[in-house]
Amino acid sequence: MKVKVNKDTCIGCSLCADNCPDVFKMDGDLAVVIADMVPSEAEDTTRETAQNCPVEAITIED
Ligand code: SF4
Repeated sequence: MKVKVNKDTCIGCSLCADNCPDVFKMDGDLAVVIADMVPSEAEDTTRETAQNCPVEAITIED
């Protein structure tokens, strides 16, 4: 599973980096994806985090 952050949409709330630090980190005011492939044990958390992003900036690619 792969995941992307839309940098034009992200508002830098840091929710994803806080909830799922194996996959996302903050780079200044934007979240970036640090995992090329989401580790299988982090998939559920990543899906949940994508759903909880307040501006729907996270896209899951199966
Ligand atoms: S949860 Fe969404 S808006 Fe917040 S930092 Fe992550 S990608 Fe950006």
